[in-house]
Amino acid sequence: MILILTHWISVNTLKGLGVEFDGKRLIYKGNKAVITDTGLVFIKGNIFPLSFKKGEGTYLFKGDEIAPVLFNLGVSVFWDYKEKRIFKGKASIKKFIMGKVDSTYRITIKGEYGGKGFKVKVFEDSIVIIGKGLYGKFRKIVGDGRFVNFVDILHTKGETKFVINLGFGAGKSEVFKNKEGINITIYPLKIKKKERIPVIVIDPGHGGKDAGAVANGYKEKDINLKVALKVAKILKKYGYKVILTRDDDSYVPLSTRARIANKSNATLFVSIHCNASRDRDARGFETYFLSESRTSEERAVAILENSAIRYDLGNLKPEDEVGIIVGDLIQTLLLEKSYKLAHYIQDKALEMKLTKDRGLKQAGFYVLKWVSMPSVLIEIGFITNREEAKMLALGKYQMKVAKAIAGGIREFLENEKRR
Ligand SMILES: [Zn+2]
Repeated sequence: MILILTHWISVNTLKGLGVEFDGKRLIYKGNKAVITDTGLVFIKGNIFPLSFKKGEGTYLFKGDEIAPVLFNLGVSVFWDYKEKRIFKGKASIKKFIMGKVDSTYRITIKGEYGGKGFKVKVFEDSIVIIGKGLYGKFRKIVGDGRFVNFVDILHTKGETKFVINLGFGAGKSEVFKNKEGINITIYPLKIKKKERIPVIVIDPGHGGKDAGAVANGYKEKDINLKVALKVAKILKKYGYKVILTRDDDSYVPLSTRARIANKSNATLFVSIHCNASRDRDARGFETYFLSESRTSEERAVAILENSAIRYDLGNLKPEDEVGIIVGDLIQTLLLEKSYKLAHYIQDKALEMKLTKDRGLKQAGFYVLKWVSMPSVLIEIGFITNREEAKMLALGKYQMKVAKAIAGGIREFLENEKRR
């Protein structure tokens, strides 16, 4: 049942608040409400869900639900999230604006007390602004996802706390205060100029609850990890810095893998996987670089490897997964370098006569899309092929594969140095 609130009755003391809807009455008294019906409340087009709990003719509901309802009815009440009670007050923070400005993201808050009325704390994953005064308009604002995920707006008597939850692409931030209020500029996350020692991120595909492909008694996640650890060891011996997105059997979301790479100013990103096919005879080594999938087969592999996103975003259909990954973030230079890196690794695998050479492929992999450095995804072999699966599980063969990957990476980096 939907209740339409028609008008506010009276609010002289907080001891008895009430609203009237459809000729019925809701009285708020202490922590209890006596009402004649339950449901959602619509005010000026916004939905305010009220969770009523029935008990002996009275209904209980939370103050942080009723406070915005009352506020939107024109009553100057707020919810104190610390003391957990409704209090009367007057909104004095006049404006909250956020949005993209050129390549940055800008947040502007204006209030009666000007810039002096605001305190800012910058944390790893959030920016917290505490302002003198109260802001009445929203409790939560959704951001663009890249710079800002969302903003929580919380009140105590006389103070408003804006908690800005940063997105995957948020970098450094700058704070300016002026007479009117505060301006915060969030810059895009950037990789610094090349470090002297290359930093290589090795990403063992899947892990934890996400097993990847499972066939012939083997799990892809286990083989990926073993090969990745060997690749890391060899690369370190070559003198490179190596970062693993996971070094045990834990689940790491795809967005976190990309964030690890972006935050560490990595030079290269290499994701290691095993392939799977309905065709039990399919076998071979192939290297992908990010692009739109050209063939239906390439598309199928992308869907397979992106499926971990299901754990991050809820249940999505394969069609949706492709929708998420195909974007316009690829820069030509990165694409060119990724192609070259893929080329060096694939050539090395061929040179070492590992298995069938399936060549270079292109597809839209989520992890590759969001990293801001040359990146490839390697399918080292087919877990669905009985013989190849057995090989992939052997430490000796894993070492051979690792040598091919590490060797390809080294040749690529040596070649880049000469340019
Ligand atoms: Zn995989």
